[in-house]
Amino acid sequence: MTQEKPKSKNIACGDIVPGCAFTATGATDEEILAQVAAHAAHDHGVTEITPELAAQVKAAIRTR
Ligand SMILES: [Zn+2]
Repeated sequence: MTQEKPKSKNIACGDIVPGCAFTATGATDEEILAQVAAHAAHDHGVTEITPELAAQVKAAIRTR
């Protein structure tokens, strides 16, 4: 039996990096942070998520 996790949180990378259209949704901050980390590495050349960046990302997460 599979249980669907509600994707209740979302983030717009444009809130952190002006002009970026990337968005992510997830059930938890950690889930979103992982997606943003992958996106940042791929599209922004950010290979290290510093505590400052992680705090910025968490502050930008919205709960629907
Ligand atoms: Zn971005």
